[in-house]
Amino acid sequence: MTMNTQGRPTAPASVSISAIDTVSGSRGLLQHEDLLFEIGTPETTGVDLPKPKGVKSRLGGVVRKAETGLAGLSEPQAVRHYIRLSQKNYAIDLGLFPLGSCTMKHNPRLNEKMARLPGFADIHPLQPQATVQGALELIDELATWLKTLTGMPFVAMSPKAGAHGELCGMLAIRQALIARGEGGTRKRVLVPESAHGTNPATAVQCGFIVDEIKANARGRVDMDDLKSKLVRSDDIAGIMLTNPNTCGLFETDIKAIADLIHAAGGYFYCDGANFNAIVGRVRPGDLGVDAMHINLHKTFSTPHGGGGPGSGPTVLSEALAPYAPVPFVIRDEDGFYRLVEQTEGAAKDSFGRMVAFHGQMGMFVRALTYMLSHGADGLKQVAEDAVLNANYVQARLKHVMTPAFEGFCMHEALFSDAFTADGIETIDIAKALIDEGYHPMTMYFPLVVHGAMLIEPTETESKAELDRFCDALESIARRAAQGDETLKGAPYLAPAKRLDETRAARKPVLKWTAPDTARVAAE
Ligand SMILES: *Cc1c(COP(=O)(O)O)cnc(C)c1O
Repeated sequence: MTMNTQGRPTAPASVSISAIDTVSGSRGLLQHEDLLFEIGTPETTGVDLPKPKGVKSRLGGVVRKAETGLAGLSEPQAVRHYIRLSQKNYAIDLGLFPLGSCTMKHNPRLNEKMARLPGFADIHPLQPQATVQGALELIDELATWLKTLTGMPFVAMSPKAGAHGELCGMLAIRQALIARGEGGTRKRVLVPESAHGTNPATAVQCGFIVDEIKANARGRVDMDDLKSKLVRSDDIAGIMLTNPNTCGLFETDIKAIADLIHAAGGYFYCDGANFNAIVGRVRPGDLGVDAMHINLHKTFSTPHGGGGPGSGPTVLSEALAPYAPVPFVIRDEDGFYRLVEQTEGAAKDSFGRMVAFHGQMGMFVRALTYMLSHGADGLKQVAEDAVLNANYVQARLKHVMTPAFEGFCMHEALFSDAFTADGIETIDIAKALIDEGYHPMTMYFPLVVHGAMLIEPTETESKAELDRFCDALESIARRAAQGDETLKGAPYLAPAKRLDETRAARKPVLKWTAPDTARVAAE
């Protein structure tokens, strides 16, 4: 495929469905749209304001000398530009989003309504605490429910994403080891091969050394391999384990794993990103967990990605709680909610501060709204329906695709590429899903499964939506099994065709440069 100077494909796909090639580049009601810089020029402007009279510039020596070079657009041009781009986006409000390990589920509108209440939306983190007692109470109440649902005594509310929560938990572990006088010696962190990439990255970021543990044929931690890693234990800092794990399976030996790690003098970090599969049913605190982040944007339905920032509160055990980051909210005896901001007094052993303020207030409001609107029985049903839906997908597709492991799954169904004919790969199936109107599933992850396809339907999809998705994927899987070569050119109907993704990742073109007019003319 040939690329233009911006790294965008210029040649038509090798197999073209000529009936849908159009002069405008648009497809049906989906408009073709160029980059902002291609449709506007710095010479035009959408506004026409007179130079203000009698206003003295206060910019001193920092007055801009050259043009900014930004393309000027009229209001209708700007509106259409962004609307057209937005229609190229896939969104949870548009359709099922099968991305595994991401829990892309419906964000209830009630959450949004609550988050927009002026008492939550229009306050500032630097306001006097006496004027934001309601907001602090909300943080405290959400913390109470997170502790209740996890069976853990403390929660650090400030981390701003799952990976940030991992950092919080691992920094607390590092601080605890330093307090024990073992900060310099206990450096080894065990991480299963199936772990999310953020786990080993976090451990290394905190100065630990990652030691990989194997998965067994059932997709769980290989206990013999784990035990062999613990023969020497005086350098063990802990383990980072996801449960349910990234194969979409419950780690059945989790209690034994916790006991082994504790006996070795280490701490148990649990990646709680998949908490939606067990919320209301299992309390991580009962499993021997010392630290676990919760992705509010997954389990508790706050938007992620472009829809809003994430939030990764991290629950901590009694052993790690003293090292939690500041700030945190406490309730004084007279009922006043107070932020502990300094690493002194109640927070004298804290490892420090991770964020400027207290965390993602808007996400806190949404998550608490979600919890309260579901109630205890509703949250339990969230986990049950998430698991039911994933098993429905697995059951519907297991005759045409190859489940990676035997038996029931938890909240996501995992398939290998064993069913595909020679030459057809996971990526071809994923790309063909785009033509069917779906965002692809998670591909090639976890690494322990060949050509992995990880599908997480979540609990908010109806049977009708699941069937629609399964019908599409089933037909693609049959074509893949028959070696249908046209799959190699998919997607045919998307605005951008098969991209050179390796090149895009290795050599990203992040800056727009004006086309070389001389060279274009010569061609
Ligand atoms: C999503 C996820 C993370 C990271 O969470 P972010 O909020 O994206 O930083 C970590 N581990 C697992 C298993 C996940 O699914």
